Amino acid sequence: MHIESQIIRATAPSSAENMGSVVPPIYLSSTFERAADGTYPHEYIYSRSGNPNRQALEAAIATLERGTEAAAFASGSAATMSVFQALKAGDHVIAPQNVYFGVQEMLRQIFAPWGLAFDLVDTTDLAAVQQAIKANTRLILIETPSNPQLAVTDIRAAAHLAHEAGASLACDNTVASPVLQNPLEHGADLVIHATTKYLAGHSDVIGGIVVTRELSPLFNQIRLIQGIGGAVPSPFDCWLALRGLQTLACRVHTQAANAQRLAELLSQHGAVERVLYPGLADHPGHAIAAQQMSGYGGLLSILVKGNQETALAVAAKVKLFTRATSFGGPHSLIEHRASIEAPGTQTPVNLLRLSVGLEHPEDLMADLDQALQGAGQ
Ligand SMILES: *Cc1c(COP(=O)(O)O)cnc(C)c1O
Repeated sequence: MHIESQIIRATAPSSAENMGSVVPPIYLSSTFERAADGTYPHEYIYSRSGNPNRQALEAAIATLERGTEAAAFASGSAATMSVFQALKAGDHVIAPQNVYFGVQEMLRQIFAPWGLAFDLVDTTDLAAVQQAIKANTRLILIETPSNPQLAVTDIRAAAHLAHEAGASLACDNTVASPVLQNPLEHGADLVIHATTKYLAGHSDVIGGIVVTRELSPLFNQIRLIQGIGGAVPSPFDCWLALRGLQTLACRVHTQAANAQRLAELLSQHGAVERVLYPGLADHPGHAIAAQQMSGYGGLLSILVKGNQETALAVAAKVKLFTRATSFGGPHSLIEHRASIEAPGTQTPVNLLRLSVGLEHPEDLMADLDQALQGAGQ
């Protein structure tokens, strides 16, 4: 079946317990009844360790990512945390130099003091990844395309390097979504998503998930961290994410088409120094993206001609775009990234990230045109 049909199948309620409703109910129960013989007839015990709404979300996303199981978390950050927490003090991690800023902060401020060693390297440069591998490297994390610089890493090659070193490859697939890219099929061991973005898709819930290609000691540890650590999404959060997921394919196809159109127009624009979008033929990662993705997604960044003030002035003038962080919702968003990240960020100060939504691309372009007027002169 095609991904469009799989999504609809995977988000339908699965059991006859739903009174025939075609939409799943929300199981707000924190606890589940135990039989007289001490067993749990429905397998659920307590909603920290498992809940029908969470189970349905995990099963759906595991299917769409071609994995065996998934563990849902209360945020994308909690999902990534669980992967690092599954490692030991003294282990070494390689992550991209321009990985999502929250992940950089997590490694520096939380895991380094716990004794997890890490190096941030340019993962688009496989020789640099190879050089960074140490005897104690247990995990290579990649994010492709990356947020907000849209750098593309070769998943299959990174998986090969990781496996040769006896390490696992985790791929943050948030920017692409499973409609456009399935990293497990290219050799990744784990896929991470901020479901906050495209999967839930409506800017109304924070969530995350880790999907595994196969059951492994690493994933067992992640499952343990989920249940014992308890950074779990609520039943309503899971219901919202599953509800949003139903329209994933049509949203992502439209957003990607809109983004491609905007990227092409903006790369001709006199006030724009550069457009970062893997769907453009001159993007350094275009050829690899064309191999491992079936489309290029709804996220792009522009480097405005000028400095931080020029970029902030452009963002100040938009009318149809909303100035806000995050991406993947129906409403187009614009964000000056460097000023929300901390000092020392690698994000260029003249970069504006665009989350292209479901408006008409001509209206979006007209808005950017008027906002860019007079910039970079
Ligand atoms: C947003 C995001 C995260 C973090 O997700 P939260 O739900 O905000 O914690 C992680 N990785 C990427 C690529 C993201 O865009």
